[in-house]
Amino acid sequence: MAKHWSRPATEALQADGLRITDLDTSATPGFKGDKKAGKELLAERTQVLSDLQEKLYANGRSGDSRSVLLVLQGMDTAGKGGIVRHVIGSVDPQGVDHAAFGVPTEEEKRHHYLWRIRKQLPRGGQLGVFDRSHYEDVLVVRVHELVPQKEWEPRYDEINAFERELVDEGTTLIKVAMFVSLDEQKRRLRERLERPDKYWKFNPGDIDERAYWPAYQEAYQAMLDRTSTKYAPWYVLPSDNKWFSRLAITELLVDALETLQLDWPPAKFDVTEQLRRLDTA
Ligand code: ADP
Repeated sequence: MAKHWSRPATEALQADGLRITDLDTSATPGFKGDKKAGKELLAERTQVLSDLQEKLYANGRSGDSRSVLLVLQGMDTAGKGGIVRHVIGSVDPQGVDHAAFGVPTEEEKRHHYLWRIRKQLPRGGQLGVFDRSHYEDVLVVRVHELVPQKEWEPRYDEINAFERELVDEGTTLIKVAMFVSLDEQKRRLRERLERPDKYWKFNPGDIDERAYWPAYQEAYQAMLDRTSTKYAPWYVLPSDNKWFSRLAITELLVDALETLQLDWPPAKFDVTEQLRRLDTA
């Protein structure tokens, strides 16, 4: 376990039995250090993550079909984009399969909701990241009744079966639900309106969505209760502190990659022979 942690992030962030209405979004569960210590540790652990990811990629190039998929869910401004940019952005982009899921296109609407998801699954050796995911189909869809309840209700079981299939095929799923407080969201939205370099992130609809906060909390709770499984558990991440979000997700990724017990793939050629050839080339 990395220093300053009293418990591994995989334990401290477990969703089991947690009520999100009780969540302190400014907390740093399991981490005893302050912001400075957190940032220092992040620099160290980022290097560890990057080395492990290179091993995953190297194995993929040698035919290993295993992959890791980070699924990020969270309300607007929760920091999903920051995780993609800063955490995923710290590893070799060749080994990253990134996908963001917005409002479905006309073509996507004509298909089953998992159709567009399946198309973006990480290939062997890749670190996949989903900025929003199939869970939107039990979140925004449920909150705004975009389809009737009889249609979204069976999706929880269907998603569990889908994820079981992914895990059986060799994908490690890391599902992270990011939460900021309503006040912190207001602060972050205000910042987007006060800084010209942030206008591009602002969507007037984000303000309307604030009225649906309790409905979203209910939908998020149902998602955690019904789709946190042994093989694909949810982690709940208090996200008011960006440095903590980044550190915690880095730890979750390091843990997942370490669990794969990756080694460098062996040479597919005779090393001595190739050295001899090189000497005379
Ligand atoms: P972001 O706001 O994350 O920067 P976009 O503006 O491209 O990204 O799209 C996000 C929006 O798409 C969110 O409001 C989200 O609720 C919506 N969305 C995502 N998936 C679905 C879905 N399956 N059905 C309806 N809306 C969806």
